Amino acid sequence: MLSIQAIPALGEHLNYIWLIQPENKNTVLIVDPGEAAPVIEALTSQNLTPIGILITHHHWDHVNGVAELVERYQLPVYGPKHEPIPHQSYLLTSTDTLTLPDFPAITILDIPGHTEGHIAYLTEGHLFCGDTLFGAGCGRLLGGTAAQLYDSLQHIMTLPPCTKIYCGHEYTADNLRFAQIIEPDNTDIAQRTKEIGRCIGIRDSTSKANIPFNTLPSTLALEILTNPFLRCHLPSVHAVAESYARNTLTDPLAVFTILRDWKTHF
Ligand SMILES: [Zn+2]
Repeated sequence: MLSIQAIPALGEHLNYIWLIQPENKNTVLIVDPGEAAPVIEALTSQNLTPIGILITHHHWDHVNGVAELVERYQLPVYGPKHEPIPHQSYLLTSTDTLTLPDFPAITILDIPGHTEGHIAYLTEGHLFCGDTLFGAGCGRLLGGTAAQLYDSLQHIMTLPPCTKIYCGHEYTADNLRFAQIIEPDNTDIAQRTKEIGRCIGIRDSTSKANIPFNTLPSTLALEILTNPFLRCHLPSVHAVAESYARNTLTDPLAVFTILRDWKTHF
């Protein structure tokens, strides 16, 4: 059994750094440390010992804390094979499995699209997917193609529905506003929006915005019901995308491509 902890980071960027800890152990893995200070604070206050850093992709808000953490704790850095990651010790791709002391096996998924070499870490039904899949949304195209991102999301959809989804950012509320435009009659989207409204509050001391927090992890089952980017095969979503595009769309990938572009300008 693992316990997973969220560390909000980087204020208005709404990043999450995740700590993965085996039951009855004080060792942890650190996922995507975009800054070091809140990680050091969490480790120190809880007397935790880090044994490694897992990186999903190369963007600054996922790696900026690496150098300071490596210097302080002498940690190995695991990251995608095809992206430049600071202090990287291990170059990972989908044929790799991590076996670390005290931890269950961690499998690697290649999920390009947000960036060209983006990977995810899957262990005991917990998926750390960086900026590929968000609560009710998905990442922007910042290096990869729409087809790559679409395929990566389709690949994630083949995992068990109970898979818990740990994203790189707290974007769920904003994404649900878009989802409601795409599917105004979807009662699951309405229900999720209502539930998230209950946890409105200040996310951390550095963020002045009054925004929802703690919407993660979600489950793959919930994403399949409420995330428009996983629902491009549905006739109603297809029709809305065609109306926006003012064009005929031939397949779910074309629908996905339109939705991704629409959301970027939303
Ligand atoms: Zn990113």
